[in-house]
Amino acid sequence: MSDSELNKIILPYSISVRDLAEKMETSPIEVIKVLMANGVMASINQNVDFDTAAVVASELGFEPELEQIEEEKPEDAGEVPLWRRVIAKEADKDLQPRPPVVTMLGHVDHGKTSLLDVIRQSNVAGGEEGGITQHIGAYQAEHQGRKITFLDTPGHAAFTSMRARGAQGADIVILVVAADDGVMPQTREAANHAKAAQVPIVVALNKMDLPSANPELVKKQLSEIGLVPDEWDGDTIVVPVSATKKQGLDDLMEAILLVADNKEIKANPKGEVLGTVVEGEVDRSRGVMATLLLQNGTINVGDTILAGKAHGRIKAMFDFRGNRIQKAGPATPIMVMGLNDVPKAGDLFRVVESEKEARAIVSEMELAGKVRSIAPKVSLEELYAQLQAGEVKELRLIIKADVQGSLEPIVNSLNELAEKQSEVSILILHQETGNISESDVMLAAASDAIVLGFAVEADNAAERLAEKEGVSIRSYTIIYRLIEDIEKALKGMLKPELVERNIGRARVLATFSVSRFKVAAGCRVVDGEIRRNGHIRVVRHDQVIFDGEIGSLKREKDDVREVREGFECGIALKQFHEFEVGDTLECYVIEQESR
Ligand code: GDP
Repeated sequence: MSDSELNKIILPYSISVRDLAEKMETSPIEVIKVLMANGVMASINQNVDFDTAAVVASELGFEPELEQIEEEKPEDAGEVPLWRRVIAKEADKDLQPRPPVVTMLGHVDHGKTSLLDVIRQSNVAGGEEGGITQHIGAYQAEHQGRKITFLDTPGHAAFTSMRARGAQGADIVILVVAADDGVMPQTREAANHAKAAQVPIVVALNKMDLPSANPELVKKQLSEIGLVPDEWDGDTIVVPVSATKKQGLDDLMEAILLVADNKEIKANPKGEVLGTVVEGEVDRSRGVMATLLLQNGTINVGDTILAGKAHGRIKAMFDFRGNRIQKAGPATPIMVMGLNDVPKAGDLFRVVESEKEARAIVSEMELAGKVRSIAPKVSLEELYAQLQAGEVKELRLIIKADVQGSLEPIVNSLNELAEKQSEVSILILHQETGNISESDVMLAAASDAIVLGFAVEADNAAERLAEKEGVSIRSYTIIYRLIEDIEKALKGMLKPELVERNIGRARVLATFSVSRFKVAAGCRVVDGEIRRNGHIRVVRHDQVIFDGEIGSLKREKDDVREVREGFECGIALKQFHEFEVGDTLECYVIEQESR
């Protein structure tokens, strides 16, 4: 080994003073001294970037080298949208190339809208604007004779949900990052959405015209979130552009087509007709107008479609320019007229046989929806069973903590835990300091993850959304407890904490025999209600003399599920028959405690 090889030191893009010292087997004080001599004030826990660390390392006789980060493999992250599963099932011979569907995501003000607009102006081949002039939220551009479909996910209030869905509907995500502002929270969030939806990312490094643009710094930041630029031997194409100066647009289109070619973007024009709702609205003169992105099959005027819970026969159909069309094929944005209700952005749509079939499916969905709304998605208590059943393959987490100092040990311990066992992988989709927000829950919902909070709270909007979407949020104040819960969950040893909840009381007015050994009590419900699936405590002179399950609950002669306050009923217990007039029967149910 040569001398220079002996002194080589591999450094990441960012490293704490402590870790840097450790790598060089010197004391942190030495490192701090060198930093100070170079005009950098840093404490032992503070991070310095690669360039700074490299200066220190060289001064201490090392040959620094930049670490090559292994990119996180997004293949098995996130739920595969139904449309993609449908296409995957089509026979190879029926599949034909289709235009790639692209969506722009990124931090607010980084230039998504401007880029979409200039691409629209410069790349949408001329042609008469049709009768409908409204903006339809999706368009097709052309580059070198090939079409690219752009989805315009709006940046307003519900943007997170739209983004989650935009990423789901797209083949490629353009992550727009302003070169003067760099990677910001929503950049990270958007990257996470794309990864969760298994969609490849092309970075558009926008605002390159600004003197304050610092592309090298932004590339470093991108590397830190797992998007290593191809020029640094990574897999992410980073294209410098300027929406204002209309520069780099051809390169961007080129990059999109390159990624598309690697992905074999296909669909079956003769296959099952389905796609995603881009947006829906009520137009005063035309009724419900829905913008749809057709992903497989061919759709015709006169077809009956079901979009979410809205349905109807297509009376008229328009292309993105507003021209009337009779039919459309895969990856085409269309606007349709004829639905009975406004579908939600992100809803799936498909062609059905008839209105009757549509109505039948909707009532089935409503029934299933009721059942589903009670059952949470992934929960730690259920994790083991869900893993065994193959419903989940890995544990996905979103971690929020009060300070960086608690976030790091949590993440490290979880990684250690993941290494210790091989059955389940743990994927941390997002980690950040701060309270649990609506967008954290949105990401969890879109990617079937659990939100773990350490010494932080969930804000109201986040809690409401979690309840609606069945996302589980768990809060901790002791790191050890958090890790222990995850460890137990992986082994199927985390039992839900059950609590008894009193729901009503009844007074025994009479007793009567129902068979040779069985006695029932004739009662009046004095408050709350008595439920057939509840438990009963028999209280006599302030003492509980029995506690057990209900055998039957009757009103008159009929079996009933519940009896409310003020009504009389007959109650028989499974293992108790010694009722006395004047006993109080307390009814309770056993529920999982929500944390
Ligand atoms: P969005 O929130 O990501 O959709 O961002 P917008 O497209 O609305 O752009 C935000 C602001 O940045 C606007 O004032 C744009 O004029 C400006 N902007 C967008 N692209 C560029 C660019 O390439 N160069 C410069 N200098 N400004 C830009």
